[in-house]
Amino acid sequence: MGGPRTSIFLRQKKFQFVLVAAVVVFLIVLFPNLYDSEDYEKEYPLLLENEQLVICYESNVDSRKALYAATTLSDVTDEPSTTQRNHRQQAPQQQPQQVNGTEPVIYFVTPTYPRREQIAEIIRLGQTLMHVPRLHWIVADDTNSCSEVLNSHIRKFGIPYTQLASPMPTMYRGRKNAPRGVANRRAALNWIRQNQKKTGVLYFGDDDNTFDLKLFSEIRYTKKVSMFPVGLIGDYGISSPIVRNGRVEGFFDSWPAKRKWPVDMAGFAVSLEYLALSPNATMPFKAGYEEDEFLKSIGLKLEDIEPKARNCTEILVWHTQTKSSKSPTVRISMDRQKLDKLNLGALLRRLESMGVNHISESEGTTAQAIVNGSVKPFSFWFS
Ligand code: UDP
Ligand code: MN
Repeated sequence: MGGPRTSIFLRQKKFQFVLVAAVVVFLIVLFPNLYDSEDYEKEYPLLLENEQLVICYESNVDSRKALYAATTLSDVTDEPSTTQRNHRQQAPQQQPQQVNGTEPVIYFVTPTYPRREQIAEIIRLGQTLMHVPRLHWIVADDTNSCSEVLNSHIRKFGIPYTQLASPMPTMYRGRKNAPRGVANRRAALNWIRQNQKKTGVLYFGDDDNTFDLKLFSEIRYTKKVSMFPVGLIGDYGISSPIVRNGRVEGFFDSWPAKRKWPVDMAGFAVSLEYLALSPNATMPFKAGYEEDEFLKSIGLKLEDIEPKARNCTEILVWHTQTKSSKSPTVRISMDRQKLDKLNLGALLRRLESMGVNHISESEGTTAQAIVNGSVKPFSFWFS
């Protein structure tokens, strides 16, 4: 009697186990992101265990000051060239921006990563930022080690800066929808905290965006959080707060995605006084929801938002994107040292160090020279 009953019981148990296993497999197949979104992203620790914050290079010296000091064109000792003289007659003399050193500092956080366009982006952005007084540029590079090539470009701008190495954790790197620039921005937030920066304003400015200089005077005196339109976003070509009677009442963005704060990373600035009120503020590794979760983590309320850019009628920042293409291989089937007799030795080494192209002896597009309108093999120079 006992035997069959036990076996039914066992069979029932087995059946239950198989059923539960089937449901689990079914759920995993149906919702592969269930684990991702619910588990380790539930809490957003300030620093993951293996998260890196490596300060590579830093400068607090503003060596642009000479340019901003009250040197008018007449003070310049060098004899101006003809074009400068003409320019002087035609255009009203542009006074440099006056600063007295008490204005809030803008902490401009730029996530960046090595790819062949990186240095070009950094030069373009750096030359924009050169016009902005009282700015500290935090360049957070998505790398394990400090890039000397990147630093050689950053430091020449004379802008006070900090270069960080802040790689994306490997568990996110392989994903189809990887959270781009998050490890970097988190590292910058940690740098701000560790260095007790409690006055000034934080702004996230990606390396490929385009910034109107007016943006900086708009955000500098942000009380809590300021917001403004970002051009070239999504299916509306814009992401903007909706403003009535000088107050933000909603948002205009083509990707609502159940976000409370459907804004772009470039569409807001936060005062450090306000940020300091939320010591646990952070950004999750959750592609698409970084802005929303960050703004939730600082406890933002609608009435805290100051609309900027003439009540959000002007576009002072653009979400431009640089077309990327594969790094080409150039075939030079000869001793490369010979190229050092020409400019090409140094030139090509420089480009290779930036990942713009690769030189190979056996593969790629054959390198040729053009002399007097006719194509010559490279050996022409060394025969
Ligand atoms: N970024 C990064 N690591 C990556 C990809 C991007 O640090 O693997 C940076 C990138 O330099 C940029 C920001 O993250 O400053 C946003 O990336 P991207 O411009 O590619 O994305 P978008 O927002 O334009 O779609
Ligand atoms: Mn971008």
